Amino acid sequence: MAGTVLVTGGTGYIGGEVIDQLLAKGYAVNTTVRNATKSEPRLRERWPDAGDRLKIFQADLMSDEGWAEANAGCDAVAHVASPFPLSIPKDKDELVVPATEGTLRALRFAHEAGVKRFVQTSSAAAIAYGHPEKDHFDYTDWTNLSAGVPPYIESKTVAERSARDWVAKHAPDMVFCSINPVAVFGPVYNDDLSTSIELVKKMIDGSIPLAPNMGICVTDVRDVAEAHVRAIEAPAETVRGQRFPTSVKFLWIREMAQIVRERVPEYSGKAPTRPMPDWLVRLLALFMPEMQQIKGELGNVRDVSGKHTEDALGFTFISAEQTLEDTVRSLVAKGIVKV
Ligand code: NAP
Repeated sequence: MAGTVLVTGGTGYIGGEVIDQLLAKGYAVNTTVRNATKSEPRLRERWPDAGDRLKIFQADLMSDEGWAEANAGCDAVAHVASPFPLSIPKDKDELVVPATEGTLRALRFAHEAGVKRFVQTSSAAAIAYGHPEKDHFDYTDWTNLSAGVPPYIESKTVAERSARDWVAKHAPDMVFCSINPVAVFGPVYNDDLSTSIELVKKMIDGSIPLAPNMGICVTDVRDVAEAHVRAIEAPAETVRGQRFPTSVKFLWIREMAQIVRERVPEYSGKAPTRPMPDWLVRLLALFMPEMQQIKGELGNVRDVSGKHTEDALGFTFISAEQTLEDTVRSLVAKGIVKV
């Protein structure tokens, strides 16, 4: 049964895909953007036929302005907006504060507007960090903040914990759950690339000539969005309080490069074939902020299972091979990578 859903962060990679799937299913969608003057034309261009079924509201995670209007009349919220930068900020509060305060603000205004269901886009960052003794994780695991984790990991963990505590205390009847994606890939819509997509872009445009000894789990943006939509539609008892990781497979960067070479040989001439020695990663991290994150991940396995999500929400994830192929093809088709 279609209704009205607020999707926060409509300009983002995941937010855009959630809006796409909701509109295709007949929902009306309200979405928040930080700067309506800048973003509204781009969103209207993406969904030219949506008309009044798509309403755009200006609302920043750090201000109350616009949130009451955006939530009015909504049946559910998909709270996707959160800062997701490529490099580590000097001050962790640049991420932790907007992620946490923004989530609590979105929850508070949703509750005041009588919204019955709230789906938070959390992350595997809230699951799989701070446990050096473990390499396999699932929806029952929580990142251990006392081990000391990078700011983005902390921001997602604190935001999800705070949201759950807030709901338990202030809105126990609200049906709350989180979607916890691993690194998200898949077709891109425009050149405003999410941090995860930058990795594949750099892999095929030659910016990563050697493969660092680092791995990540892969999930497809279409599956992440579908998990949000299914979490909005599933019976309350299926989703209440749940965590839904979306994840297909853990892959080393060298394995990702190999898949890209096999699946899209015509565009993968620059994908790395040789390993980058760990000492070189450490050296580059002194000058290149994005290498700092890689340095902290050298040799780590963080294999997060998405099986619980497939079972509970009743669908099968797209294979990692297909996802990586589709990522590369869309980066080339949109002219974002010239090969
Ligand atoms: P994205 O494309 O960078 O989207 C982030 C969205 O958040 C944008 O719409 C951005 O708006 C908005 N935002 C950031 N700071 C904001 C603020 N202060 N006020 C209002 N909006 C703000 O990233 P994404 O990959 O779609 O990520 C979306 C969500 O998924 C995030 O919660 C992220 O933590 C989570 N996630 C992503 C991945 C991944 O690999 N991509 C994996 C796990 C979880 P602007 O356009 O105005 O910047």
